Amino acid sequence: MVERSLYERANAIFPPVANRATSLGIVKGEGVYLWDEEGKEYLDFASGVAVTNVGHNHPYVVQKVVEQCQTLIHGGHNVVYYPTYVELGEKLIEAVDPNYKVYFSNSGAEANEAAIKLAKQVTKRPGIISFKRSFHGRTLATTTLTASNSGYRQNYEGLLPSVYYADYPYATRSGLNEEDEVKRCIGVLDDIFHCLIAPEQVSSIIVEPMQGEGGYVVAPKAFIKHLRKVCDEHGILLIFDEVQTGFGRTGKLFAYEHFDVKPDILTLAKGIANGFPLSAIVAKGELMDAWTQGTHGGTFGGNPVACASALAVLELLQDKYIDNAKKMGEYFVQELTQLKEKYDEILEIRGLGLMIGVEFVTKTGEPNADLVKKIISKALKKGLILLNCGVDKNVIRFIPPLIVKEEDINKAITIFSECLEEQL
Ligand code: PMP
Repeated sequence: MVERSLYERANAIFPPVANRATSLGIVKGEGVYLWDEEGKEYLDFASGVAVTNVGHNHPYVVQKVVEQCQTLIHGGHNVVYYPTYVELGEKLIEAVDPNYKVYFSNSGAEANEAAIKLAKQVTKRPGIISFKRSFHGRTLATTTLTASNSGYRQNYEGLLPSVYYADYPYATRSGLNEEDEVKRCIGVLDDIFHCLIAPEQVSSIIVEPMQGEGGYVVAPKAFIKHLRKVCDEHGILLIFDEVQTGFGRTGKLFAYEHFDVKPDILTLAKGIANGFPLSAIVAKGELMDAWTQGTHGGTFGGNPVACASALAVLELLQDKYIDNAKKMGEYFVQELTQLKEKYDEILEIRGLGLMIGVEFVTKTGEPNADLVKKIISKALKKGLILLNCGVDKNVIRFIPPLIVKEEDINKAITIFSECLEEQL
């Protein structure tokens, strides 16, 4: 036994403001596994919230990072240019569109800040449309955009003006069929334009193609296509927040590829550098060129080591792990579906690739946060790390590293079904 755990020491010096899903003190990671300070092994199906997409300490990433550390640790993109910065920019453009350009920063929230600032400046319009149950970060501006928990706003009101919230289709909850749910949500958006802000006053619509913190809800293709149409009609810029869905997580490099719709601005973070702080916006070249010099910036954006890691990640993903995410995602859903047949409390299994949510309800159909909490805590004791999500915290998300193998999934399913069996 360690004398004082990392948890105890941390509690003495850090404020309780950030939510922490566990009290684990982790000292080592490799592949899909983590080890705590007592030496206990955990199967990591949380990936540090969809970050370690190519697994903990992937040897190729480590090699590239070490090489970069021996060469240059900080360049400062406000001061100089350096190879990994330029190469990563080129690779991202190659993956998205040769007519787009890139801007780097350090976190998902910062990328979203950059995106809405760019949209405001270029369109010279004040308004932003976001969605209920969305999550876009916790800086003051992105707290405004985020609408998945009123608690996030507590005593921070007086946020960014001119932000309006539309409805994101969630047929499972509304009880409508998907087509009618899409129509309903289009109606809500029309009402916003009609009653609250004219579309000509709106700079951007920011949307997650699959809501993450909001409950792992995939947008219907027809809805995303409608957003594209509305934006084109009114000169509004469409921002896809792919901070959680990006970098192979959904079985494609970027989730927008599932919808045949390209955003004007794409925001990326989390999985981009497998744990190094890095984020990016990738936006149409003409927008980026119109972004007035000196009106945005930061010291650390596009750090050489983070970019070296991201280059290795991209190579590995494109080589094999995106395919693995798709294949393993299908296998995982198939195995989970068998459990659904056994338990009425499982309302729905949904997702794309290895971004899978399992929604739980009570016998009377109410969101069942209590059960989710118990399952997650039992699973942790048995060595499986899981996270919840959803406005009602009644969804368990399964987001293992994309290198996961069938045997790892089988192990997770065994633990998960034991937890269900013991709890129900
Ligand atoms: N957007 C989405 C979709 C996210 O899931 C998150 C993080 N959960 C963020 C933005 C914020 O990212 P960061 O924590 O890196 O600021």
